[in-house]
Amino acid sequence: MTYLAVPISGKDLESCKEQIQASVKAGAQMLELRTDYIESLNTEKLAQLIADAKQTALPIIVTCRDSAQGGMNNLSSDIRKKILTEAIKLGADLIDCEYANFIKKDFAERIKQALAQNSKTKLILSAHNFKGPFKNLSGTYEEIFTACPDAIAKTAYHAKHINDCFESFDIIEKYGKKVIALCMGPNGTISRIIAKKLRAFLTFASIADKAATAAGQLTIEEMKTRYRFDKISNKTEFFGLIGDPVGHSIGPVVHNACFDAEKLNKVYLPLLVEGGQIEFNEFLDNVITRNYLGLRGFSVTIPHKRNALEYARTKGEYIEPLAVSIGAVNTMVIGVNERISCYNTDYAGAMDALTQTLGINRKNLNGKVVSVVGAGGAARAIVAGLADVGAKVTIYNRTVSKAHNLALEFGCHYAGLDKIEKLDADIIINCTSIGMHPKVDATVVPAHLLKSSMTVFDTVYNPMETLLLKQAKEAGAKLVNGAEMFIGQAAEQFRLFTHKDCPMQTIRQTVLAALAKK
Ligand code: NAP
Repeated sequence: MTYLAVPISGKDLESCKEQIQASVKAGAQMLELRTDYIESLNTEKLAQLIADAKQTALPIIVTCRDSAQGGMNNLSSDIRKKILTEAIKLGADLIDCEYANFIKKDFAERIKQALAQNSKTKLILSAHNFKGPFKNLSGTYEEIFTACPDAIAKTAYHAKHINDCFESFDIIEKYGKKVIALCMGPNGTISRIIAKKLRAFLTFASIADKAATAAGQLTIEEMKTRYRFDKISNKTEFFGLIGDPVGHSIGPVVHNACFDAEKLNKVYLPLLVEGGQIEFNEFLDNVITRNYLGLRGFSVTIPHKRNALEYARTKGEYIEPLAVSIGAVNTMVIGVNERISCYNTDYAGAMDALTQTLGINRKNLNGKVVSVVGAGGAARAIVAGLADVGAKVTIYNRTVSKAHNLALEFGCHYAGLDKIEKLDADIIINCTSIGMHPKVDATVVPAHLLKSSMTVFDTVYNPMETLLLKQAKEAGAKLVNGAEMFIGQAAEQFRLFTHKDCPMQTIRQTVLAALAKK
């Protein structure tokens, strides 16, 4: 079992008590009493805090963190020693002592002595690095276990990139419940979830965002509801959204709701992969060389759709022909022997959204005059689909050369965004990220160009009603929103990930509810 531990970090006993109650209610499985947060800490306050925590019957860790390793209130070495030894006497299930302090003679002697008198209490020896990964992570664990073989060894370091997490995963895979290995910061968030599959001793979650004691910590609610923490076992398969940014995406909520509806032992994660092709390749290599992680498939978004295609091409992996002609991959499935299959589900999602709204078949798009704004991955998918049915497409893009290349490939017209004033079409499709959260006051097509005879389709789905769609509505145009495209492509991804049909009612309800909250 991997405990879901919640840090209690009130500055007085009253607020600690409130946090303890809230943690129990939210489903905490262990409490970490961060005594260093308590103002004017003394042994009386410690005794009361432990008594309050013990009423819950949950196992408790007592920590009195050194400020050199992220502790509060700059407590002296003497008070920290006193608190930890007293916590042992008071029957704490575990105490957390920094390894760097434990190896100091006086610290070690007093703690070992107290532990010898109360064999019930277990020792966590921890090491933290708030700047980046450890120079020698496996060496750090070996050192801790050599010094104290019975201890639970813990490291927490700032992940500068998601690729920094894999070393931590290898540690948990090697030592299992003898270790806690977490990565801090937004790039380390997944380490908090994956820890359970790998059977680490514990992972942390906070009661609320503002109560988090480390960057990147999720709330218990997010862990349990969004990331299906209680369902995670060593057999769980992980999927996820590779992109930058990913925090805004509704993908995790939507795919996890579908996995839940179908009772599948699968969890979908946000995978923030910063950088370009090199970092993307490194991430995929890290994944496929670690079968034990159970990462089995990905949705791919900005800026990695071409990187995904190039990766698969270089490695000789399967790429469906449509994805090759579109020139972008938005779905990767890792199959037998870690061979990867790549697809593009954006095309079908977009075409279905457009034709269903217009109440027509794809072939009825033949001869329609369409202006596509953007020349990235989404634009390519849509232009390929439109060209295939004989629509007359003009591509507008900020980088004219990209519009030119795309137009040459699919037999379209093209222009720079500076020529947008010339736009006149039956259908306008925004395939740029302009208007997307947080820059919701931006639009790519000036309002005066919009007419009631037009159909205006914005692929942006966050927010669901972009400024472009608001202005198109005012002009009396027909509207297609990005949510419909999202539902279509996500349902197809679900099928590729699971080989089952997507629960359409669940996906539609979840997408619309998630977008309405934005
Ligand atoms: P991409 O490959 O990175 O392409 C981005 C496009 O946006 C490029 O044409 C880029 O122009 C343009 N762009 C970005 N910032 C701009 C700015 N400030 N001014 C002018 N142009 C700008 O991304 P993508 O995958 O095609 O995605 C584009 C949009 O489609 C996103 O908003 C995404 O949410 C949406 N999308 C929706 C769905 C759905 O299911 N609804 C699916 C996929 C994508 P340059 O070439 O000049 O850089």
